[in-house]
Amino acid sequence: MDSKQADLDSVRSYAAEIPVSWLRCRELGHNWGPHSARVIEDGGFDRVLRCRRCPTKRYQVLDAFGRIVSNTYDYPDGYRMPPGRGRITGDGRGVLRVVSIRMGIEADQRRAVGRRDRGGV
Ligand SMILES: [Zn+2]
Repeated sequence: MDSKQADLDSVRSYAAEIPVSWLRCRELGHNWGPHSARVIEDGGFDRVLRCRRCPTKRYQVLDAFGRIVSNTYDYPDGYRMPPGRGRITGDGRGVLRVVSIRMGIEADQRRAVGRRDRGGV
């Protein structure tokens, strides 16, 4: 595991390269929905959750009381920072939020221009 903190320029270029839906997941958290589940031998459960916004999957093992035994994640290629560039923490997470917010504002402005061009208000 990469323990050093990613520098902010690396985070900026990474944020500009990934799909905006992935960026939303990185800054807001995944939007999990149940996908499949089965009962396992000790009465617990294996279940798979899928994000509704990005291709990430989460494999969860629960005991018979519903307590989470383990969580593992399957991320799409490119979802995480390239190896060796460090982890996104602290101000790096702030960079993800700023890029995400700016993209949202720009998309709103493009939609507003589109409406004007079509003769709307
Ligand atoms: Zn997601």
